[in-house]
Amino acid sequence: MFSHLSLISLNKRTPKFVVLIALSFFLFSSPDATAEKVKNIIFMIGDGMGYNHLHLTQELSQKKLFMFTLPHQGIVFTASADNPVTDSAAAATALATGYKTTNHTLGKDAQGKDQKTILEILKGRGLKTGLVTTTDITDATPAGFAAHVHNRKEKLKIAEWYLKNHVDLLLGGGKKHFLDLTPQFKKDQYLLVYTPAELSALHRLQGKKLLGLFHPSDLNYEMDREEIPEMKNEPPLSTMAQKALELLAPSPKGFFLMIEGGRIDHAAHALDMATLSKEILEFDKAIQAVYQFSKKRKDTLLIITADHETAGLSMPETTDYAYLNSQTISFNQMVRGFKKESITQVLSHYAKLTPTQEEINMIEQSKDLEVHERARVLGSLVSKKAGLTTLSLDMFKVGNTHGHTSSPVPIFSFGPQAEVFQGGQDNTDIPKKILRIIHAPSH
Ligand SMILES: [Zn+2]
Repeated sequence: MFSHLSLISLNKRTPKFVVLIALSFFLFSSPDATAEKVKNIIFMIGDGMGYNHLHLTQELSQKKLFMFTLPHQGIVFTASADNPVTDSAAAATALATGYKTTNHTLGKDAQGKDQKTILEILKGRGLKTGLVTTTDITDATPAGFAAHVHNRKEKLKIAEWYLKNHVDLLLGGGKKHFLDLTPQFKKDQYLLVYTPAELSALHRLQGKKLLGLFHPSDLNYEMDREEIPEMKNEPPLSTMAQKALELLAPSPKGFFLMIEGGRIDHAAHALDMATLSKEILEFDKAIQAVYQFSKKRKDTLLIITADHETAGLSMPETTDYAYLNSQTISFNQMVRGFKKESITQVLSHYAKLTPTQEEINMIEQSKDLEVHERARVLGSLVSKKAGLTTLSLDMFKVGNTHGHTSSPVPIFSFGPQAEVFQGGQDNTDIPKKILRIIHAPSH
């Protein structure tokens, strides 16, 4: 207390009321005196999730997103060390280590030096750790919390880092990167699960760790759950989140869990806003499940943010919400449908769109591109018909994030000391704040 007070220079001329105000400020704001202790941290990240993506989802679903009901909200600036527009690797590094780095770098600062992540620091203090995502688990966002590589594409190295860090729980896609490592994961006491049934049958880790992989690469979009029969092998994000909480909650020293809605970004890159809104609804459902868990306890801090905005979305007066709502499958699936049916058939059936000859040519010319890039060509036509404003196809080609923007993103928080995330902040402030408030012995 006295060390706090010594920060203000008091002298005989200082009026009494100023001293009183200063004293009461420190008495009532001192974290040691009044704050509740934080044992568990749940950090949720909507990849590419900007304010307009959230509001578009509310307009399309005609309901308020649960995250907007949380008591503390703020705003986060996202620039990386070398670009006002960050990619997911530099953003995850900032959110996990508190250091800015160059785009595509993971777990290293801008000089290329490894920096400890919040997951590693808390693991070192005896907390259990977990990473959950709808993408390939070696993708940039989860990797930023437990790997140190120069390039986010070094996926095998990232998988090895997870092993090296003994991350207690890993749930997502990306099975193809773990094939050679399976014996080593088994040796390190990992239980391996590959189906939702195997996952739901697990109720205690009992000293073991968990690697659950449900797709060779990214899980499919929620939009396509009816359309793709194999999706029954992929648990929704809210199911994975609930299971992670059930398995990590018994940890005596608490846990750190990162949960990512990873495919929000992918849908935004494809300008597939109807599909994006379904990803956000599932992410919001996962938030609600986590909130229910946190609400019952006084020791669990929940933080929800995004790593950056994708696609520069806005909804002018021309926006046709009913049209967007009529879409029943993702653009990725429509592109795959071109193999069986003509472009005109697919577009008129699934996108209620009668393409001009010029537009058909444009889609045909994109046939050598990857599925998600072809999906964006389709997305540009649908966005135009839907009256949405987004980046143009040309803008997606320039730069090194292929369609991200520097728009600030939201942050929501709940639980003990959640108010510290209110207001404006840099992405690097978030892990620093978490470390400042978490109650865990540092040795
Ligand atoms: Zn992206």
